Parts: sequence; structure tokens; C-alpha cells
Amino acid sequence: MIYVDNAATTKLSKAAFDAMTPWLLDEYGNASQPYSFARAPKKALSEARTTIANCINAHPDEIFFTSGGTESDNWAVKGTMLAYSDTRAMLTSAVEHHAVIHACRGVERMGYPVAYLPVTATGVLLPDTLVRYLTDSTKLVSVMLANNELGTIQPIAELVDLAHSRGALFHTDAVQAVGHIPVDVTQLGVDMLSASAHKFNGPKGVGFLYVKAGTPLQPFNDGGAQEFGMRGGTENVAGIVGMAQALRDNWEMMDIHSTHLNALSSQLLERLVGAGISFQRNGDDKTLPGLLSLSFPGGSGEALLHRLDLMGICISTGSACDSKNTAISHVLKAIDLEENTAKGTIRISFGRYNTPEDVATIASALVKALKPM
Ligand code: PLP
Repeated sequence: MIYVDNAATTKLSKAAFDAMTPWLLDEYGNASQPYSFARAPKKALSEARTTIANCINAHPDEIFFTSGGTESDNWAVKGTMLAYSDTRAMLTSAVEHHAVIHACRGVERMGYPVAYLPVTATGVLLPDTLVRYLTDSTKLVSVMLANNELGTIQPIAELVDLAHSRGALFHTDAVQAVGHIPVDVTQLGVDMLSASAHKFNGPKGVGFLYVKAGTPLQPFNDGGAQEFGMRGGTENVAGIVGMAQALRDNWEMMDIHSTHLNALSSQLLERLVGAGISFQRNGDDKTLPGLLSLSFPGGSGEALLHRLDLMGICISTGSACDSKNTAISHVLKAIDLEENTAKGTIRISFGRYNTPEDVATIASALVKALKPM
């Protein structure tokens, strides 16, 4: 099997797995208890918080462990909009992940206006566009750092400055970015940032939300005093330790991994061009390493996915979070892709375990599936 759907999820690294096992088997104590058996998990949580904070240039007290990207996004959006009662508005982009878009629909149902801002043909939310929509009654702006279907990286620092100049808070969904490209919350200037461990070779069902000190945010869960009283519930110690290990490893190897991933992308594109396949690459020049959104006009992305699946290759047609819905994704619609082109779109997202041999096999499979008999 060749797995090239790393934007959907990644393989757990052996180092993360090894770091997790003691907390599942022997060190099962509840970190909130006062006895000495709880000391080790408590220390592990604190060390994980520091490791994660260091990887994004935050303070450990600004890291809140969650169950993943969806929870972090929902918490940031709803927790900010409901933090104090007024009817100020929210702005987001038309290409956000459903974790943000559907959270926004939720706050709209509660009476807060939300606008979904248009993007360019490469998926970029231009600062000039944000300027046109920002008003003094904008309470929150939420724009993703890197897009999961296109790989497009947004000009977050510029957008943050504009939002702050009008008194709005800024959240970024960095689920596809953290562990893959440098993410520095101080340089970006964001108030909140979401991340998810399973996108950077950590375990599933765990993530974090960075919340800059002093940001007005409602607690996610009422309950115990865990997560500084903001998210009650016994901590997933093994998952959190695995996440920290995976993030530190990917952070240390980031340059090496991205060079490797970019080389794999270039190789695949060259092979397709060499074989005379006509296609277009979607997204911006500033893109996530190893993520290719490719459209084969007149083709069917869904049929390609199934043909490649039969050859043992896992790719995606668009967003894996939407596998039941075969309609053209909201992201491809937002970049105004013609229906004929959008329908023929696939996403290949390489990961650190992929090899040039994988690329050769994928290229032959694509050529076989696409060349007329
Ligand atoms: N945000 C983005 C950009 C994503 O790509 C995903 C997952 O695909 C999520 C949020 C949701 O993350 P999780 O699967 O951890 O809930």
C-alpha cells in the first residue's frame, strides 16, 4: 500500500508510540490526584506543555490541550463569540475547514452575523479584501494558516495587524501547518491558534489550542480544574505526551522533511508532464510542502481515487472530512474552478515516509488511469 493522503492523517511515529506506552500501561495515575503516584503524569503533562509551547514560541500557560483540531476550532470560534454578550460580528474565509465553517454557522444561529470572505483564484485571502469587510464591530477574524485542499498559505501576520487595528481578535486554524512549516505565534501575532496531533505523526484524538494570555474566551467544558479551569475532564496523558514527542521530532527535522516532500512533488509533476498528461496544479506558490491539488479537466477525481485504490494507492478527491459528500468542495467553488475541472480534481499529500519509488508507482498508476486506451 502506498499512502499519500497525509493531509487527512499521518502515520504515528515510532518515537511518539514509544513515548506513549508507559502512560497507557504502568503510569495510569490521574494527574489531578494529590498522592505521589500522580506526580509522574502531572510532570509529563507539564513537560509536554513546555515542549509544545517552545515549538510555536508561546508560554506554556498559553497551551490548552484539546481532543483535536475540530474541538480547538469550535472552542476558539464559539468561546470568543460567546465570551461577552454583544452582537458584534465575525469574519472568516470561504475556504476554511468545516470545523470552522460549521462552528460559524453555529454562532450565526445564536444571532451573531458572520461573513465568509472571498479568496483569489489561488485561495489567498488578500489583506485588501479583509479591509473592505472589517468594521469597528468586528469581534473575531478566523482565517486558516494553510489550506487542507490546496496547501495555500495565508498572509496571516498582515491580516492580524489589520484585524487588531480595528479591535478584533484573530484566530488561525493551523492544523495543516503545525509541524510542517515554521509557526511562531509571536511573529504571526495571533490571539488563538488550533493544532491537531494526528496531522504531524502524533496520535489521533488530541490537539491543542494556543490562547494568548489575556484573550477573552469562555471555558470549553465546565467540570474539574484541568487546563487552568478552562476545559474540565481527566487529561489524555498518553496522547498529550505522544503529541509533544511527535511535534518536537517534526519541528527538529522540518527543513529536511520539507526538502524531501518538495522533491517528491516536483518528481511527480515532472513525470506527469513527461508522459504528456494535461493537468493544472491548484493553489498558490506559497504552499505546504508535499501537498498537490491536481485537476485533470474532463476527468473524474472520484473515479481516479477508486482506480488508484484498486492499485493499492491512497489519495483523496478533496477534503477527507467530506468523504460521504461527492459534490464539488466549497474550497474548489471558492477559487472559481470550472465544474469540468473541479470534478477532475485529486489531492496527493506526501508524508515523511514516502519515497521516490512511491512517486514512480503513483505516476505510472495515474498515467495508466488517465491515458486514453
Ligand atoms: N482544520 C483543518 C485545516 C483540517 O485539515 C482538519 C482535519 O482535516 C481539521 C481542522 C480537523 O482536525 P481534527 O481531525 O483533529 O478534528
